[in-house]
Amino acid sequence: MQSKWEIADVLRAIPKVEQDLGLCVHQSKTLRALQQCRTAALGGHVDACDECGNISISYNSCRNRHCPKCQGHKREQWIQNREADLLPCTYYHVVFTLPCELNPLALHQPKLVYDALFTAVWQTLQQFGNNESIQLGMIGVLHTWGQNLSLHPHLHCIVPGGGVDKNGQWQKQIRSDKYLFAVKALSKVFRAKYVHQLRATGVEDNPLLESLFNKSWVVYAKRPFGGPKQVIEYLGRYTHKVAISNQRIKEVTDSEVSFSYKDYKTGGTTKLMTLTNKEFIRRFAQHILPKRFVRIRHYGILSSSWKRGRLQQLQERLHVQRPETEAKTLLRKCPCCKTGTLNTIEVFGSRGPPKQYLLKPQIVPIA
Ligand SMILES: [Zn+2]
Ligand SMILES: [Zn+2]
Ligand SMILES: [Zn+2]
Repeated sequence: MQSKWEIADVLRAIPKVEQDLGLCVHQSKTLRALQQCRTAALGGHVDACDECGNISISYNSCRNRHCPKCQGHKREQWIQNREADLLPCTYYHVVFTLPCELNPLALHQPKLVYDALFTAVWQTLQQFGNNESIQLGMIGVLHTWGQNLSLHPHLHCIVPGGGVDKNGQWQKQIRSDKYLFAVKALSKVFRAKYVHQLRATGVEDNPLLESLFNKSWVVYAKRPFGGPKQVIEYLGRYTHKVAISNQRIKEVTDSEVSFSYKDYKTGGTTKLMTLTNKEFIRRFAQHILPKRFVRIRHYGILSSSWKRGRLQQLQERLHVQRPETEAKTLLRKCPCCKTGTLNTIEVFGSRGPPKQYLLKPQIVPIA
């Protein structure tokens, strides 16, 4: 569903916000890309239907990974690839959250803080796997936001409830059907490993590091997935998310923006929050990840080195039917008559579509 308001509308209302907020070049470029997405600024093409002759104009999208409008295509491809990796077992979903004391450091050195999160979480799970003498696998997806766009870094981990023993044999159930490992134990090991990781990467702020031991860290085990199909469904919804979807933006004025959010303190009821445009963009920009930062990572038996053969062998032994990956058709259907195929008849740059397509009636004969 097309939403009425977009992040781009907020950006248009405050043209000089990058300077006001002191954003870096990469953040400013990202915001500009979002603002120009699917507008004449990025150029586009003119399509004609080979049945009804309807002419339509499309503007190019920015393809920026932080853009709420540019997620669909990548997500589909990613899900198709993941379907090929599935194993016949329960999948667990565990969320590891960083304490808010680390937020200032995360803003200054996001790569260091988030890399350490991936590493510490995987080391933690590996240790628990080793206790059972098996090698596990994990897909980690980094989210940096909370519901109201605040900084709330956490790692969603999808973990198959089984692993491979030292003879390469699949060992299925780890513990119970309910949880993968006890979260309290996970939380302690995670905290120790994370702080160790920070020290190892050169963070020397001792008062900060010591204060991190003053409270328990939050590790949350969500209800496990019923089966592989649900895992895929879940991944589809969560992996390629951005900090806020356009659907949640309810109104944009010259000075303010209102958006919906779930308040977990009141049982997850939906509420409306209004911020100044500048504050909204400040919060949004906190979630722009460093250039080339990999926010979805695969580990253990789901890592890329395993996928080059060993995972496939394991699936064969477990009689997993790998889905046929069908080549996506490039034919585009006409939205007007719904039977014809669209052909691109003109490509245009930032000067916009050629005038004749804007002025003439929308029907031209096609050869
Ligand atoms: Zn875009
Ligand atoms: Zn999340
Ligand atoms: Zn048509």
